[in-house]
Amino acid sequence: GPRVRFGPSPTGFLHLGGLRTALYNYIFAKKHQGTFILRVEDTDQNRVVPGAAEGIEDMLNWAGIPPDESPGRGGPAGPYVQSQRLELYGRAGAALLASGAAYRCFCSPQRLQLLRRDALRRQQTPRYDNRCRHLTASEVAQKLSQGLECVIRFRLERGVQPFQDLVYGWSKHEVAEVEGDPVILKGDGFPTYHLASVVDDHHMGITHVLRGTEWLASTSKHLLLYKALGWEPPQFGHLPLLLNKDGGKLSKRQGDIFLERFARDGFLPEALLDMVTNCGSGFAEKQMGRTLEELISQFEVSRITTHSALLDLEALPEFNRIHLSRHIENQGLRQKLVRELQGLVELVYGQQQVDPDVLQEEYVERVLLLRKGHISLLKDLVSSDYSYLWVRPSVSRQQLQTISAEVDKIGKLVSGLLTRPAAALTVEELNRELRSVQKQTRETKYSSMMQLLRLALSGQQHGPSVAEMMVTLGAQEVCGRIHRALS
Ligand code: GLU
Repeated sequence: GPRVRFGPSPTGFLHLGGLRTALYNYIFAKKHQGTFILRVEDTDQNRVVPGAAEGIEDMLNWAGIPPDESPGRGGPAGPYVQSQRLELYGRAGAALLASGAAYRCFCSPQRLQLLRRDALRRQQTPRYDNRCRHLTASEVAQKLSQGLECVIRFRLERGVQPFQDLVYGWSKHEVAEVEGDPVILKGDGFPTYHLASVVDDHHMGITHVLRGTEWLASTSKHLLLYKALGWEPPQFGHLPLLLNKDGGKLSKRQGDIFLERFARDGFLPEALLDMVTNCGSGFAEKQMGRTLEELISQFEVSRITTHSALLDLEALPEFNRIHLSRHIENQGLRQKLVRELQGLVELVYGQQQVDPDVLQEEYVERVLLLRKGHISLLKDLVSSDYSYLWVRPSVSRQQLQTISAEVDKIGKLVSGLLTRPAAALTVEELNRELRSVQKQTRETKYSSMMQLLRLALSGQQHGPSVAEMMVTLGAQEVCGRIHRALS
């Protein structure tokens, strides 16, 4: 099967853009019984953030798209961290030097800076003038013997290197004119991105490179490197930009696109995967609620378009609502949610008297099943609207009597209708029954009766409808609360 890789630089947290790139690689690999590799691209050591590489791998695991080969997992093509592969880049550099495809450049940083300034003053793109291309062998030997520092540059041939991109179709970019010969190995033995990615993709047996469109223009350069090294290049497919709904750049500064944050806020990974694929392409139709298995079976690389994907973060709660419902419907996943919710209840209401009864698995599971489809996050169930579920009110008969003198009658009628055989326990039917209970009272208005019941059931004056509370609490709990308030 194909071998694909996700090659993040460990400069920070994994964000939605990175997740999208990783996900398309993962889906592509799984669709074709292939291998998904995580490769940490840390050749720019100045930008490396300690712990970031581990964080990225953790988040891929959390998201449910674990790499098959990675720094954490190992694998036959390791090491999977570029800074541990310097020898391979050195060897490739030496081969390119030997064949004349690369050369040593002794230009000082000062000279390069002057070139830059000069170009900028003339409003041109800075470009290395390829001066050291023309050094003779003896000039090179002499500079080396003087101990002068040097880098290795790749001799870019003129002319375009057309290639067929899996997404963008036939592409060609004139690289030589624009940029001058690029550095491939720095003075300290570290490669630059271009050499490192070509060498690694070759040695790791990568067959398909799916990466962000910002690398499309570099691909010609990479193909020239493959040619100079005598290697077979992989196929390339570039993913269109992922932008905000308004077409602006996804801002990492807003801090709201990092996976850690979504995980902490209680979003399900499935909702994130669904959202980032829904706003993009690769599928015959847009459709909310796809599982990872469905994403894999419905994905087709030929359906990726070059249109930017516009991400609507405000839709995330709705994606989560759909996937949370699916989890609740699944027996095994539901048990996990029950335990999670029990933990949340203890965390939020632990100080108040949470009755052990309402922490029991059976009760919590019932609540989940009944509120399915009405909540977008599990933690919604511990918000103040739902505090009645977990904290039994302490209401006195006197309090209730100030609302209506007929409290005992109402309590008895309501308990009766809930406990009779084949009691109706839907919101609609209860609303009907409550109307008829009110008709059996003498002097209690419907609104007062509801106020009374709400107080008896929740201790509060506002919140969800009385019928909804009754359905969610269940007959036994409702009767218990009424009984306690009246006794
Ligand atoms: N390290 C590059 C990045 O962070 C990866 C580019 C590639 O996939 O070739 O974008």
